[in-house]
Parts: sequence; C-alpha cells; structure tokens
Amino acid sequence: MKVFFVTLGCKVNQYESEAMQKLFEASGYVRADEISEADVVVVNTCTVTAVSSQKSRQMIRRAAGANQNSIVAVVGCYAQSEPEVVAAIDGVDVVVGTKDRTRIVELVEAAISMRNEELGIRNEQPLSVVGTVDEIRDFEELPHAPQRTRAFLKIEDGCNNFCAYCIIPYVRGRVRSRSLESIRDECLKLKAAGFKEIVLTGIHVGTYGRDLRCQVSGVSGQKISLVDAVKTVLDAANPLRLRLGSLEPVELTDELIELIKTDERICNHVHLPLQSGSDEILKAMHRPYTTKNFAELTARLVDEIPEISIGTDLIVGFPGETDENFAETLEFIQSQPFAKIHVFPYSARAGTVAATLPNQIPSSTKKIRTNSALEISRDKSKIFVERLIGRTVEIIAETSTDGLVDGLTKNYVRVYLPDENIPLGEVVKVRVEKIFHDGVWGDYVD
Ligand code: SF4
Repeated sequence: MKVFFVTLGCKVNQYESEAMQKLFEASGYVRADEISEADVVVVNTCTVTAVSSQKSRQMIRRAAGANQNSIVAVVGCYAQSEPEVVAAIDGVDVVVGTKDRTRIVELVEAAISMRNEELGIRNEQPLSVVGTVDEIRDFEELPHAPQRTRAFLKIEDGCNNFCAYCIIPYVRGRVRSRSLESIRDECLKLKAAGFKEIVLTGIHVGTYGRDLRCQVSGVSGQKISLVDAVKTVLDAANPLRLRLGSLEPVELTDELIELIKTDERICNHVHLPLQSGSDEILKAMHRPYTTKNFAELTARLVDEIPEISIGTDLIVGFPGETDENFAETLEFIQSQPFAKIHVFPYSARAGTVAATLPNQIPSSTKKIRTNSALEISRDKSKIFVERLIGRTVEIIAETSTDGLVDGLTKNYVRVYLPDENIPLGEVVKVRVEKIFHDGVWGDYVD
C-alpha cells in the first residue's frame, strides 16, 4: 500500500506529517511519489488565516478527486476547527483534528475495511474522531524520522496566550511540553543519523516547560524553561547548529540571550513577531509588550550578538487600525533592524475576540497597507543580504534543484550556487557574488 502526504502550514505540521509517515511505514506502507498512485492520501491542514482554510479545502477536494479508489484522511488545525465541513466534502474517509494522530493508521485501515465491505463504494459517513482539545494536558509523543537535511524537533504543542486575532489556542489547546527525557532520546537518534542542524519547533516554543515544573524526577517543584530544553538538545545531539523557533519578545530572557551569545552552535537568528508598531493596536491585540520594550530588545540583540538576523511578523488592518496607527507602524518597522518582515493582512477568524470588534478594515485598505509594509520589508532584506557580497559564508547544503544547490547561513540567508556534486547535508563554503532570488548567489570555495 502506498501513502502520500499533502502538508499545509507551519513547521509543526511538517514535523507531524513526517511522524505520521513513519507510523505508516512501521505498518508496511511505502511512500507514493505521486498523489494519483497513492492508496491513502493524508492532507495535513492549516487554519491560521481564512486563506489557509480555503487552501486546505481546495487540497482536500484535489486529493479526493485525484484517485477515486484512494482513502482520504484529513488531519490538523483546519479539520479541528471545522470538522463538519471537512466530513461533508465528497470523498473524505477519515477526519482527525490536532490530537489522536497516533491513531491515523488504525483509522485509515478501519475506513479501508468499511469500504471493502461496501464493495469498494466510498463510505458515506467518514470516520471522525475530532474532539475538544481544551482539556488535553499531555504532549502527544510521535515517532519521528526527519525527511530533510535540517531536522525539525517538536518540543511543545498548544498556546495559552489568546491573542485577540488568533485561532490557534482554540484548535491546538493549552501548552503541553515534551519531557526533557523524550527530547534527549530523539536528539540521540538525530545525532546517530548525522544531522548537523536542528530546528526547535512548537506552537509557542517560548513557553516551553511552563507545565512541567513538578514532573521531572528528582527535581520536583523546580522550574523548567526553554533554556533547559536548549541545553538538553546541545548536550545530547551536539549539533553544529541549533535554530530556535519563533519567540515572543517577552520570552527572550537574559539567560536565553546569554546562551545564544556564548554558545556558537546556537544560530544568530531569531524570529520575533511584532504584529503592530502602534501601542494602541498592540493593546487591542492583547500583545504583552510595547513598541518601546520591543525596540530595547532588538537594540540589545544587535549590540550583543554579532550579525544577528531578526525576522518578524506583522498584521496590517487589525480592526480599528486608523491611518495614524498604521503610519506609526510604518515608522516603527522602518526604525527596526529587521532582516525580513512577513506581512499578513488581518484575517477575521470566527470565535476570536477580534472577529467581534467594530471597525473592521475594508480589504482594499488592507491591500494598500500590506503593499506599503512589504516595500519596507524588501528594502530591509536587500540591505541585510547585501552585506554578504564579497564575503565567504558557510551553509549546510539543503536541496538540489535544476542544477542549483541551496542552503542557509547561520543567520538565515539563503545562498544558491551551481551544483557541482555538492553533498547535501554537508557544510559548504561559498563566496557570495550577488543578490539572487530570496537570498544571494555564490561560488563554491574549496
Ligand atoms: S502567542 Fe498569540 S499569535 Fe502566537 S499562537 Fe499564541 S495566541 Fe496565536
């Protein structure tokens, strides 16, 4: 039997798809190269914006239409948020939300046998196991085998923040941290497999350990934090590089900054979601910092960590965002040392506080504001990568396509070079020549 995965959304979804793939392989399934030749198609969905939900529905329909005989299983955040809509899509056989992924093979096989009993006719009612996630307190352990040169390592699930615009806490539930023992076990496997770069992933990585205080044997009552997870990874896997996931500004503690500064294995790259450059809007978004706090942090990072790359997310057109608020945002992002700004037009998500606020912003205004912010992002990215021209940088060769190899520098600049039998997964030195695509172009240095 052949299985094919379609994965939408973030690194956590990518990690979870890789883990479910491993579960199928353990039951004798092999990977299909094309969706049309698969006996089972798993669509791992996203719902972070209205566009993500729409894309998820499109992919489910495409999967169901690709091969009338295949079993279609839909999992993930969109399935969790609208299970009835997913179940009503013609051709869907199994619906799983953001828990019970460990049961995916069992559920798919139940759907296969139901279909066999029906003489191959598609099941009218899909098997749906989507339940509430509010009460879940345990991290769901999944076997994992990374399928890329950078190994994603999931250390946490869920979020307690309830930012006014965000649907994620409703579909992922509360913070559940993976135990340090389990992190250590997976790191030992990654080390044995020779991974040079590990990327910490989670829904809200900065809150790692908040729920673990009393659970670690021998240190009952002691606080556990992201710093402990980072040290565990460094000790057990000893990777050449460790990349931290997205962190909230308030979570970059003195201890964590000190660790980034002093341990060369930790990448000089952080992703700090700003979301707005207006204090009034930050407050309405329920974000726990001001622009002053944010600017002090970025100034410190630039001052203390050489060549640091700071990426950010920005939401434009939040309900009630006036022209003045947006002008403040533009001025603020212009003043910040960002290497990249991901700009998202605000997307109302049913069930969130922001969706009920008055003064929703028209799409046309959001579009204009998005373009203005993107212009600043492009300028800032260009200035950041231009500094590399003429210099020699180190990348870990990641992918090879159409005669080109690409990989990332420690501070997250994508570097392209001609593929001259460059071994993927290895460290390669490149002399940077010019700006190219979303990064730079260079030549291999022996
Ligand atoms: S911190 Fe805010 S934006 Fe991030 S997942 Fe939690 S609620 Fe969503």
